[in-house]
Amino acid sequence: MIVDSHAHYDDPAFDADRDEVLKRVFEVTHRVINIGINAERSRSTAELAYKYPQMYAAVGIHPLETDNFEKELPVIEKLAELEKVAAIGEIGLDYHIPADRERQKAAFAAQLEIAGAHSLPVVIHTRNAWEDTFEILERYRPKGVVHSFSGSAQTALRIIRLGMYIGFTGFITDPNVKKGNKALSVIPAERILIETDAPCQPPVSHRGERCDSLMLPETAAHIAAAKGTETEFFAALAAENTLRLFNIGRDRE
Ligand SMILES: [Zn+2]
Repeated sequence: MIVDSHAHYDDPAFDADRDEVLKRVFEVTHRVINIGINAERSRSTAELAYKYPQMYAAVGIHPLETDNFEKELPVIEKLAELEKVAAIGEIGLDYHIPADRERQKAAFAAQLEIAGAHSLPVVIHTRNAWEDTFEILERYRPKGVVHSFSGSAQTALRIIRLGMYIGFTGFITDPNVKKGNKALSVIPAERILIETDAPCQPPVSHRGERCDSLMLPETAAHIAAAKGTETEFFAALAAENTLRLFNIGRDRE
């Protein structure tokens, strides 16, 4: 069983062949969680989730999309009521370019409130902002996942102590990603999710290509090897972790 815990199939990179790609993806992929980045893309994410039975949606405003977040929040709140919306995300803090940090924090907190009000888990995006991210997560204590992790073992353990999950993309398959791979060794397999961040983060053998969920087994194989277990076993465990976190019943075919 393979579940992609984080993808963006509503991205324009799939405009030319979205349906064909997803047809191939769902021949081997059990479930995909598609992730919103702003109000418009949360709407298109929800639409895709209703078009494909095996797809679920996260809706939210990405930290670098927060210019109009006050106006967009009511859209996110409305979408959060839909049955196929399984999470609020991706939300968080991103300081890798100069940004209005107070604005990002306000949008992050407001969306954690929405998640709490709807009893939904959250998908966290954080970049160059660990301290502020932890301060807010420790305040709200949401259920959720920190996606696309490449931080230190110490940071990973801090996330685990918060009761959260950690998501790895194809990026981790690069042995030069030393810190992330070291962190991998201390994270219990029961807390790991795998993701493509499609179209963005292909595993090392597909570097430079558009990423899709068919590349997920390579990431699963890398992590399984690091954990000293079989790929199929680990992929199934990561799938279970994802379905548990997002409360997606396996009988909802
Ligand atoms: Zn993403």
